[in-house]
Amino acid sequence: MLYKISLGTSDINKYRLIQSRELIDEVVSLGKDLKGLRLCHINSTPFGGGVAELLVSYIPLLRVLGIEADWQVIRGDRHFFTITKGLHNALQGAPLEEIKKQSVRRRYLSNNLSNARELDPNYDVFIVNDPQPAALRHYSPESKAKWIWRCHVDSSQPDATVWNFLRPYIQEYDAAVFTTKKFVPKNLRLGKITTMTPAICAFSSKNMFIKKYVCREMLENLGFDHNRFLVTQVSRFDRWKDPFGTISAYRLAKKEIPGLQLAMIGSFAQDDPEGWDMYADIQAEANKDDDMFIYSNLTGIGNMEVNAFQRASDVIIQKSIREGFGLVVAEALWKETPVIAGNAGGIPLQMTGNLSNYLVNSVEECAEKIVHLLRDPALCQRLGEEGKEIVTREFLMPRLVRDELRLIKSLVNK
Ligand code: UDP
Repeated sequence: MLYKISLGTSDINKYRLIQSRELIDEVVSLGKDLKGLRLCHINSTPFGGGVAELLVSYIPLLRVLGIEADWQVIRGDRHFFTITKGLHNALQGAPLEEIKKQSVRRRYLSNNLSNARELDPNYDVFIVNDPQPAALRHYSPESKAKWIWRCHVDSSQPDATVWNFLRPYIQEYDAAVFTTKKFVPKNLRLGKITTMTPAICAFSSKNMFIKKYVCREMLENLGFDHNRFLVTQVSRFDRWKDPFGTISAYRLAKKEIPGLQLAMIGSFAQDDPEGWDMYADIQAEANKDDDMFIYSNLTGIGNMEVNAFQRASDVIIQKSIREGFGLVVAEALWKETPVIAGNAGGIPLQMTGNLSNYLVNSVEECAEKIVHLLRDPALCQRLGEEGKEIVTREFLMPRLVRDELRLIKSLVNK
């Protein structure tokens, strides 16, 4: 059932070039304290979306520190992932009537049961990401490991029926981790509830330095005119990312900035069956407009291309209306590109200081900010520099490794 993702090790010392010595020393020392610890992260998709993005660079860092870390992905069919996408949406507040049906609950639970039966028990710690595999702990009653549930979505106001269904399974964990305090559902009772924000890898192909002219050339090859402004949104084809809000804002801004181009870069994920319909709808909009482009991981847009878009676009938009964190925001800020983003969920944690002036609550506000930024390149540069500082200080991998290893140490030492 579950399958292990092939990963190697990476080099923590590279971070010494850009992060404080105290931080890296603490991370190395935590690694020594926990040397040989067997840790397994579990989620529901090997690609597409923030969790997969995180784990692919996080696990190799743990390994180089001496932790025997693995990443395993549960299996499921389309029915299962339709239910779990509903659970994901419901944690973010959308009602899910189907969860009242016994057959739906049974399908979710029986999938978790079969995955649990196949799970290699030889780990000291399991970290289970998001609601899809949340009942694995329940179906591993013999396990002596420590179990942590990591919630990546904005679960501050979950649909009550869904939350009442999931809550008992989550309360069986040793600890739960949320991105920020306000995401912790009010009635969750658990020995340990803590918070930590996600982070990006500065050296991955998604975020490594690429010269601007190479990025521009890559974009030109895809059909963009570098003499005209380009704004881009990068995200799964998901309703909470508000792609149609972004398209409407672009259309409004285009009245002031003729020739403006829009790129909608999206990805599909194994656990996200809703993406296809959304893709078709966005494509229909793109068909009406020669300056609007839609690309996906299925049409050759991989990490390097996303990197190029995030570097060479004049402005990155992330008009989410619910957002767990929004790695795409950190990725763009890291590249010193100004970001206009929805004032939602975890995004304001990243857009602090002057950047907070570019948190938007409506299509009109988004359009207005696009025009404002495109007319002021010096401001864009200042915001870009401020953004990079924020990410360097708070949202790079070693800080996340430190937070997670501190938590693990506190659990295994008990
Ligand atoms: N992503 C990508 N290609 C795409 C769309 C998204 O590589 O076409 C990546 C993006 O760069 C980011 C992740 O998927 O690393 C999305 O994470 P985020 O936290 O922004 O949103 P989530 O999908 O987890 O809700």
